[in-house]
Amino acid sequence: MPYYIGDVIEESKRLVIRTPEEFNKTGIDARVRTHVEGIDAQKGLVYLSGGMSIPYDYLVMATGAKAVRLDIPGQDLEGVFSLKNLSDAIRIKSWIRDKHCRRAVILGAGYIAMEMCEALQTIGLDTKIVYRGKLPAKKWDPAFSQVILDEIKGHGVEFVSGKKPLAIEKGKTGSLQLVTDSGVVEADIILMALGVSPEVSLAKSIGLSIGEGTGAVQVDLTQKTSRENVWAVGDCCEVFHKVAGRWVYLPLGDIANKQGRVAGQNIGGSPMEFPGIVGAQAFKVFNLEVAATGLTEEEAAQSGFDPVGVLIWGVPVARSMAKGEKLGIKLVGDKKTRKLLGGQLIGKRGAVQRVYALSVALWSGLTVDEVGYLDFPYTPPFGGAWDAIHIAAQDLARKLT
Ligand SMILES: Cc1cc2nc3c(=O)[nH]c(=O)nc-3n(C[C@H](O)[C@H](O)[C@H](O)COP(=O)(O)OP(=O)(O)OC[C@H]3O[C@@H](n4cnc5c(N)ncnc54)[C@H](O)[C@@H]3O)c2cc1C
Repeated sequence: MPYYIGDVIEESKRLVIRTPEEFNKTGIDARVRTHVEGIDAQKGLVYLSGGMSIPYDYLVMATGAKAVRLDIPGQDLEGVFSLKNLSDAIRIKSWIRDKHCRRAVILGAGYIAMEMCEALQTIGLDTKIVYRGKLPAKKWDPAFSQVILDEIKGHGVEFVSGKKPLAIEKGKTGSLQLVTDSGVVEADIILMALGVSPEVSLAKSIGLSIGEGTGAVQVDLTQKTSRENVWAVGDCCEVFHKVAGRWVYLPLGDIANKQGRVAGQNIGGSPMEFPGIVGAQAFKVFNLEVAATGLTEEEAAQSGFDPVGVLIWGVPVARSMAKGEKLGIKLVGDKKTRKLLGGQLIGKRGAVQRVYALSVALWSGLTVDEVGYLDFPYTPPFGGAWDAIHIAAQDLARKLT
């Protein structure tokens, strides 16, 4: 969606994977613009908007997540948006075009805020990020967040930190004003990019178990919920984190896809279990690749490990070809078992490619010592004989001893 708003993808229909008509052709009755108002789990009935009801033998909860909104006066004014689905993206793009927007404010500094600041700045809007913290992308090590901050500032995005939004008001010239605890910021469009929370109102209404720390529907590895014949998949439910060894909430599209497949297989009579995740994620902001997998030191400590981290600056290609380019890599390992627990990478190239390798290492439960000698291809345009991963892992191995 950020790439549609930023004109990289020109037509919204390219974001529609399958239309209702295509579903119908395969025998699936797909009804859009239809709200499920309630469920009678005893009778096996789903009540729809418009007064209709549908009987079911199996029910799959795939209600996704809802965008977190700041509960401040003026949050419902025209021109204030969240970006959660394609309709939001189309509305945002039309608003920018129809109102000839020139100034945008983004509240929040996570990956969607990063992708959106690039999109808005690239199509010519003067873009400001207003954030209560000091650095963007707080999941990443502060040294990497600083690189992200330099990158967005270098492309003209203003990062206004430490301000608490208090209200949104209409400005004199028809624009919007974000009132903060230390001044007013003018904008033609305000985007709330503050994260999501699981949409579980229907799940709660039929008494499904909800995770205490996650607020998401609890499932087992077959995606079955606490209620017979009810399954849950995607952003509304928990997922098993193989490295943490516990159920977590990680609302990402690749996970939702896999969970949907697993639930479908089980309901259709070909039993299978979802093996879990290691937490791989990545985003691009202007010319930077930013990637992570596994646990941060903080998450590892919360999961009962004794984490040790190392951060190095290597190169994405052979040193002779690097031309000053840097690749930041952070690895986290466990002092007791010497297992790799997580990794983060940042750089103009080569960061995402390497996180694939780290994810497989985490999936396989490799030790840091093993990662230090993994067999990677060596060719100068893509890396040295000793890759940045090897160097970081060997550094970490020494620290663990
Ligand atoms: C801007 C943006 C960028 C993203 N980029 C990435 C990315 O690069 N990589 C990645 O892995 N993930 C990304 N994600 C996350 C990804 O989109 C989600 O994880 C994924 O869409 C979850 O799929 P889902 O089917 O569980 O939920 P959703 O796609 O949210 O679908 C849930 C659907 O259920 C409907 N619904 C809810 N309640 C009811 C009801 N009562 N009646 C009827 N319908 C109902 C909702 O309207 C919605 O259509 C991004 C998300 C956003 C917002």
